[in-house]
Amino acid sequence: MMSDQKSLDSLFDKLLNNESIFANKEVLRHSYTPDELPHRQHQIEALASVLVSVFKGETPSNIFVYGKTGTGKTAVVKHVGKALVKKIGGNYFAKPFQSMKATPDFVTLSTGTYPVWFIYMNCEVVDTQYRLLAKLGEYFGQSIPLTGWPTDKVYDTFFSSLDMEKRLVIIVLDEVDKLLRKGSDEVLYNLTRINSDLSKARVSIIGITNDLNFIEFLDPRVRSSLGEEEIVFPPYDALQLQDILGQRARMACAKDEVVDNSVLPLCAAFAAQEHGDARRALDLFRVAGELAERERSKRIVERHVREAKERIEQDRIVEVVKTLPGQTKLVLYSCILLDKYEPSGISTGEVYNVYRDLCKLSPSEILTQRRISDIISELDMLGILNARVVSKGRYGRTKEIHLGVPVAQIKRVLEQDRKIERVATYVPPIQHKLS
Ligand code: ADP
Ligand code: MG
Repeated sequence: MMSDQKSLDSLFDKLLNNESIFANKEVLRHSYTPDELPHRQHQIEALASVLVSVFKGETPSNIFVYGKTGTGKTAVVKHVGKALVKKIGGNYFAKPFQSMKATPDFVTLSTGTYPVWFIYMNCEVVDTQYRLLAKLGEYFGQSIPLTGWPTDKVYDTFFSSLDMEKRLVIIVLDEVDKLLRKGSDEVLYNLTRINSDLSKARVSIIGITNDLNFIEFLDPRVRSSLGEEEIVFPPYDALQLQDILGQRARMACAKDEVVDNSVLPLCAAFAAQEHGDARRALDLFRVAGELAERERSKRIVERHVREAKERIEQDRIVEVVKTLPGQTKLVLYSCILLDKYEPSGISTGEVYNVYRDLCKLSPSEILTQRRISDIISELDMLGILNARVVSKGRYGRTKEIHLGVPVAQIKRVLEQDRKIERVATYVPPIQHKLS
């Protein structure tokens, strides 16, 4: 009895002692915005210099913000928005589903200025124009059902609620390209020109995108009204990433000594290769720390970062495999089934034979060998397999395929697919040749 109690106590002690690396892991989350954003002074000032016109009672131009993922776009826009609302007075809504009942936080306004409402929307979450307008309407006290109304009515309701008071509403549409993927750019057209119809309120739009081609797809009229001002976020280099990560690492870790000197430069170097992505640097560091904690290491060392890199890369591949089209999954599954019989590489012809059998069993449409060869090249480009063209002398040319991923893990992921699950007992005929 006594010893049971003792082992229970020590069970938690062990786990608690384990947490020796991190004191506050929260600050490593993507959603955490630090008070200072090193190496983004230029973008912060550019944004502020457009928004400053609200102090003169003018409506700021619409702004289009672009740059690759993890370059600090979301963090900078929220940072500047918060500072603005704090200074001039108004409401700051930075989460997509923040409670609408938040009490307004008005500060004395100098004459001629409007209260500012800063509303952040992530179009990955609020991904149709209907939902976007319904959500916006909610901020101004309307409850619009999330489906069912004609779009005109949703727009009119949103519009009239917005125009009830004198105010300047800054609407941030983060990942605005996602909105377009789900429909037309009508809502962008309307929102970026709404000021000509409003009588009391004023609106400025800040559109953010990671997709550098996005602007090419916009209606030229939307393009000119959204992009009145443009702010570009270039990728960070390794030294900048090291500063950014260093700031967060100091906040996250119990003591500076738990991080070996080589760790931050290595995380930064890896993330710099990954198009200068601060998010990747943070992930590498967090996962490296978790690995160190799990093995009860007192410090994070270089080896943990390398393992973290591998793990993150594997997770990425699992995600990619999960979302492959059905036919591509069948081709990949065929390669996996053949892998153990052909250590020196699988040929396109062998893949095609197995693929054809699987199609008959699943059942699926059978594509041509030419098409399957293209799919193999696509899988190669995704880094899931390596396909090398080899000459077979007078037998022509074929591809020699090797899997570039942990086979057992990917096999399990594929077998979660219903069609693949149905053919999972299939054994390639090649085995009979061997026995
Ligand atoms: P984006 O919106 O461009 O994809 P984010 O603003 O979400 O990038 O940044 C990704 C992560 O990196 C966030 O956790 C953010 O706080 C952090 N980050 C990016 N730039 C900086 C910076 N200059 N200083 C501190 N943290 C940064
Ligand atoms: Mg972002």
